[in-house]
Amino acid sequence: MSVEVPAIKLADNVVLESKSTALIIVDMQNDFSHPKGKLFVPKSIETIPVIKTLIEKARRKKVLVIFTQDWHMKNDPEFAIWGEHAIQNTWGAEIVEELKPLESDVIIRKLRYDAFYGSSLDHILRLNAIKNLVITGTVANICVLHTAGSAALRWYKVIVPVDAISALTDFDYYSALRQIDFLYKGILTKASNIDFV
Ligand code: ZN
Repeated sequence: MSVEVPAIKLADNVVLESKSTALIIVDMQNDFSHPKGKLFVPKSIETIPVIKTLIEKARRKKVLVIFTQDWHMKNDPEFAIWGEHAIQNTWGAEIVEELKPLESDVIIRKLRYDAFYGSSLDHILRLNAIKNLVITGTVANICVLHTAGSAALRWYKVIVPVDAISALTDFDYYSALRQIDFLYKGILTKASNIDFV
């Protein structure tokens, strides 16, 4: 079986107000983005320098930088689907060395695919009067998509740089783009097309 991917438009240039924008880096942890990780996503390696450049751009303009960390207790029911991964306080749960957060960054430890679920993310965004969310990271069709969808349903403006997210297969990757574009009316673009002012 083969399926055709519907046309997905990429925005040429996305200019965002720094003080009402946050950059979210989803689950760029050793278990997902390091070759020795338990659920390694090979394509995530290519996104590391792209995300790093975006983080540097954001920091220069004082854009709020938020990392999410998948954070599981032993015997989490999610392990029935994926096997053990991102167990709290282990190497696998740490953010990859190349993207190491600063003290000033926000870290959201998440229980489920959706970073809003049972976390303080929405509270922190509202305290900071954030309206726009640039969402990067992995896995595109799992935690990135659920977080982007959950953000869009809360009426945040969602921007996803297509070269800063990764999935295990092309089908998974393009299905995530399709949902973000068609279902959630997110803006898709290249990371280099995003400017903070
Ligand atoms: Zn998980």
